[in-house]
This record gives sequence, structure tokens and C-alpha cells, in this order.
Amino acid sequence: MLLTLGPDTLLLYFARSDDLNDMILDNTNQARCNICGGTQFELGPNDRKSGTGKPPRCKRCQSLERHRQLRQVYAQLPDRYLAGLEVLQLSADIGVDPAWFNSYEVSVFQRDNSLDLEAIDRADASYDLVICNHVLEHVANDRKGLQELMRITRPGGFIQITVPTPYTRAVTVDWGYPREEAHGHYRGYGKDFLQLFSQVEPGAMALQVEAIDEVTGAGGYVYLWSSDTALMRQLRAWIINPIVAG
Ligand SMILES: [Zn+2]
Repeated sequence: MLLTLGPDTLLLYFARSDDLNDMILDNTNQARCNICGGTQFELGPNDRKSGTGKPPRCKRCQSLERHRQLRQVYAQLPDRYLAGLEVLQLSADIGVDPAWFNSYEVSVFQRDNSLDLEAIDRADASYDLVICNHVLEHVANDRKGLQELMRITRPGGFIQITVPTPYTRAVTVDWGYPREEAHGHYRGYGKDFLQLFSQVEPGAMALQVEAIDEVTGAGGYVYLWSSDTALMRQLRAWIINPIVAG
């Protein structure tokens, strides 16, 4: 299903395909982690179950739903394409494997190589891919942060973003301060998150990909964003073609 939300944005629904099921289910029909192959799962942080009632954390690699959703999206992109990319990741994420890329740099908040998202200490057009998962909610001025991500991304490159549970509310709530009882987040994003991209960079294109974690059945959104519309069409084709072909 492909919905056009406006001139700049597209919404994709990334459905499960039979091929994908064959890949992730072994012959006992047991769910398997698409990151490490593990088949044992336990409760998540704070004894959390997935929204589907299933235990989300892989006992072997500690991955959660969002990591496996992300892995599913990257798995749709050709190895040879990923292998040519120079990448910056803001905050490490087990869903992404640094070995996929031509080069890989990671910034860890308040620790190794820490970069300020509102003023990233890197030249314009430095990377082919900038990855930013579960970081924007910690940034006081997220519009400035998105401008910075766009600035350091090369023409012909793209940005990949996730934020916590944007599907749980219609409209983003901004508290204006890092709210302690909300994991120190400045805001809780809503379904309007997609529109933020066109406000920050008119003319750029954003894709919202809904990926289903096959272990728990939980869905989540992965955002891809670029000013190169030809690249975005290519990314979209890589992501949806296995389903169309199936
Ligand atoms: Zn695992």
C-alpha cells in the first residue's frame, strides 16, 4: 500500500512476505532473531512485554523489536549499495552492522566521539548515510538537529531516523524540557512526525516504512529522508519490490 501524504512525503506499508517468513521461521515454526539467529526471548526493560503480549528481548544479542524492525529494512537494500557508503551513526544500534559499509563512524551521547546534534562538528556533505535512531527526542531543538543532519549528508545520500513509538499519538507533545518521567525526553512524537521533514527541508522526500518484527509481531516506523528524489525512488523500489514480486 502506498499513500501520498503531500507533494514531499510518501507513506509505505511494509508488509510481511512469504519469503521473509521462510527466512525467519525455522522448521519448528519458532520465531528467530533476524540479527543473531537466537530463538529464546525474555521480558524487555522494566519487565516490559511487547504490545502483542510476547517477550521482546533476544536472550542472545539483547535486541528489541525496534532493532529487528530496523534490520528488516536494511536487509532490503543491496549489499553492493551499502558497501559503497560512508556512514555516520549518532548513537550505536544493534540493528545496524558497521561491517556493511565502506566506512563507519559512531558518536555516543556524552561518551566516545560525542557530537552535538544541534551543531554537528563536521563539514557540509561529509557522509553518504547518516543514521539517527532514538536520539532526536533528547535534543532541545529537533528542527535544528534535522537541519544539521541534512547539512552533513552529501547530495545523493540519505538519512535514516527512528523515534520512540510515534504511532501511539496523533500529534507530537513537546514539553520544552527533558521530562524525567518520560525517560528524559523533550517530547513524545506522534503520527505528525513525518510532516516535520517537509517543514525542515521543503522539496526533500521522506519515506515512512512500517516494519513488522517477526518475533513479536509488533510494527514500528523507520524513516528515510533525502533531498535526492531519484535516490528515494530507488530506496522505495528496493524496499517494496520483494513484496510486489511475491
Ligand atoms: Zn538476537
